[in-house]
Amino acid sequence: MNIHEYQAKALLRSYGIPVSDGRVVLRAEEAKTAAGELDGPLWVVKAQIHAGGRGKGHFKEPEAGEKGGVRLARSVGEAAEFARQMLGRTLVTIQTGETGKQVNRIYIEDGSDIDREFYLAFLIDRQTSRISIVASTEGGMSIEDVAHNTPEKIHTFTIDPATGLQDFHGRRVAFALGLSGAQVKSCVGIVKNLYRMFTDKDMDMLEINPFCVLKDGSLKLLDAKMAFDGNAIYRHPDIAALRDETEEDPKELAASKFDLNYIALDGEIGCMVNGAGLAMATMDIIKLYGAEPANFLDVGGGATKEKVTEAFKIITSDPQVKGILVNIFGGIMRCDIIAEGVIAAVKEVGLKVPLVVRLEGTNVDLGKDIIRKSGLNVIAADDLKDGAEKIVKAVKG
Ligand code: ADP
Ligand code: MG
Repeated sequence: MNIHEYQAKALLRSYGIPVSDGRVVLRAEEAKTAAGELDGPLWVVKAQIHAGGRGKGHFKEPEAGEKGGVRLARSVGEAAEFARQMLGRTLVTIQTGETGKQVNRIYIEDGSDIDREFYLAFLIDRQTSRISIVASTEGGMSIEDVAHNTPEKIHTFTIDPATGLQDFHGRRVAFALGLSGAQVKSCVGIVKNLYRMFTDKDMDMLEINPFCVLKDGSLKLLDAKMAFDGNAIYRHPDIAALRDETEEDPKELAASKFDLNYIALDGEIGCMVNGAGLAMATMDIIKLYGAEPANFLDVGGGATKEKVTEAFKIITSDPQVKGILVNIFGGIMRCDIIAEGVIAAVKEVGLKVPLVVRLEGTNVDLGKDIIRKSGLNVIAADDLKDGAEKIVKAVKG
């Protein structure tokens, strides 16, 4: 689960980590008052979306200004004007893709006098099963280029969970960033608190870019991106409360309401499968035959007809889906329930793409019979291989 920058900064503040003072704004009318509560002389107006690259992004509507989703204002009036221009507009960044994201919240914060911008991140490194720290002197808005062109400028090291974070980890970060004197001590303190927060809150990822040295020599975190482990959210009602459903994929959101295990992907073949293992195998075999899955979906063992109907509707609502493969090995799940769910959904939303159905197991004959009698234009398949071959052929010709 991801949260907004302003929410991340409130969390950082609660851990004693230096961030700027700021105000969140939901309606243009609030912007002037919010900006007036900050000292100036520089205000930074920041679009709040769950995606990075805002500074270098652009709005779809030209009247929102050409300068992207992070703008510097020299007066309260100018800050309020920028906020008004951005609210409700669609921001496109390197991370949002072509469609962009609508800006529904603005964060207005105190502007800082930046001397140097660094990159600092904490990640779960699945290879070493440890938390790792990534640091680079080349922070700011082009970290992707740095990783690509000069990877030696990115320093990575892991933390042994048996010892936890030690002062020397903080000093390694400080030296990697070229800090000296009192800044080293300050950096050690910040790294310690970041690690404490990361583990306390079961985070997946914490990215600070930029982590700054200001002109007065002090350290400050000017941007923060946080992701939390969805399986641990139940332990953190305070974090769960920060969820912004408008930022989530509507298909995944609908699926979560019906307790379906669904993950949207980029491919063209929608999949409805029972069992996570079979769903993975189905995705693999679609790739083997030269196409890409549009989703992962495990409808589960005890799904009702209504749940199957919803699942099918979610798949067909994806404009990228050019064909659908239903692959059911009925154990606890009965093939007739799947057949009824598919037919109910098609009756409701129609079927504009080829549909291949492979049914096997409990009540298979009944299931096949229901589909045959429905008059639906369904391509029947005998096994997994046959199903994958047929749907790829139907889509790719
Ligand atoms: P994004 O990473 O989405 O582009 P950032 O919050 O990192 O957004 O902002 C982009 C750039 O804007 C930063 O690299 C920094 O140079 C500048 N910036 C952001 N916040 C402030 C601030 N409070 N004061 C001064 N400059 C800022
Ligand atoms: Mg940033």
